[in-house]
Amino acid sequence: MITARTTTEYDVEAVRSDFPILRQMHSDNVPLVYLDNAATSQKPASVIEAIDTYYREYNANVHRGIHKLSEQATSAYEEARLKVRKFINAASKREILFTRGTTESINLVAQTWGRANLKAGDVVISTVMEHHSNIVPWQILAAEKGFTIRYVPVLPDGTLDLDYLGEVLSKEPVKLVTLMHVSNVLGTINPIEDVIAKAHKVGALVLVDGAQSVPHMTIDVQALDVDFFAFSGHKMLGPTGSGVLYGKRALLEAMPPWMGGGDMISSVKLTGSTWNDLPYKFEAGTPAIAEAIGLGYAIDYLTQIGLANIHQHERDIIGYALDRLREVPGLTVYGPTADQKGAVAAFTVEGIHAHDIAQLLDSEGIAVRAGHHCAMPLHEHLHVNATARASFYLYNTPAEVDALITALHNARKTFQL
Ligand code: PMP
Repeated sequence: MITARTTTEYDVEAVRSDFPILRQMHSDNVPLVYLDNAATSQKPASVIEAIDTYYREYNANVHRGIHKLSEQATSAYEEARLKVRKFINAASKREILFTRGTTESINLVAQTWGRANLKAGDVVISTVMEHHSNIVPWQILAAEKGFTIRYVPVLPDGTLDLDYLGEVLSKEPVKLVTLMHVSNVLGTINPIEDVIAKAHKVGALVLVDGAQSVPHMTIDVQALDVDFFAFSGHKMLGPTGSGVLYGKRALLEAMPPWMGGGDMISSVKLTGSTWNDLPYKFEAGTPAIAEAIGLGYAIDYLTQIGLANIHQHERDIIGYALDRLREVPGLTVYGPTADQKGAVAAFTVEGIHAHDIAQLLDSEGIAVRAGHHCAMPLHEHLHVNATARASFYLYNTPAEVDALITALHNARKTFQL
């Protein structure tokens, strides 16, 4: 059940009341302040209940059984696919592949499209700010195939060096540009429309890692004209183990399958096999059924609140957080200013290691992440080995930002700074 109102006046307390985990205390008299949303989001009761109902009332395998429960499970699983299609405005449900998350989606593209199309002499463009999941799959394949990877540098203001991108696109045989939409560390919102248009002009395809954008802003894959778009369910109120790869139908049709097994075949003979239609060609074995259904309910919830409302709420929160973080002596926030940034603030405090910051904040009930956030090349570029990261979502409040600031002042006192 969704109780939050969808008026222009955003009712954050009503939103919070939909998330059972937010009702708990961290410890005696210490409320839980969850600011680790870039790692994973919390789940509303409607998603938790949808998963519970599936297991209690219609648990069965999909696409196979000719019995009532299996038909029910199949129709719920396929309905979730339709919800995803509509949510990102894909042209067809055949373009929506269920995966375990962004990592699996990108590896799928590397191991099928990449393996079939990339060879020595070709160039793939990635960026210095990427999550490891959009660097390592290409490095693994490049070691085997011999193509070159060029990385777009990050400028001092935390944005991408688009002149470098233009230069490589105009001078080298680029087959693919693969980049994140929103940085999980800097918060930078990359101008992907522009990148896609430029790449297409020279015949290169574009893969966008939307792990940090789909949960927070409206995405229209047809308007973007993007070739592949990857995202994770667990960062957008859905369960872990749910994710999506969108691909243009003609590309997916032409791509060989990745994993072989049940469901992805049309026929199997000992002399060879033929493949099922899209999207099933890429969904070998029993899929994550409950997880896909849960993701569908997460999309219902986000749609009900309204992504435009969520986006505006986050803009307010990150703007307030950046203003208040400036009050903490010795604190540096990395990345662009609030107007070009998602709801993420990665920072260091002079004289305190990021892990110590996270530990001291945790003792005051505040959950943030510390480390390299799976972006080691970016941290090397920033000349820091770790940052602390506060990341916000639809249920966070200005009072939670205040709690973060107070705890940071207390951390400095503990370190006698
Ligand atoms: N890309 C980005 C930008 C991310 O933030 C993450 C998750 N931290 C991933 C990819 C990987 O997502 P997952 O672990 O769900 O596959």
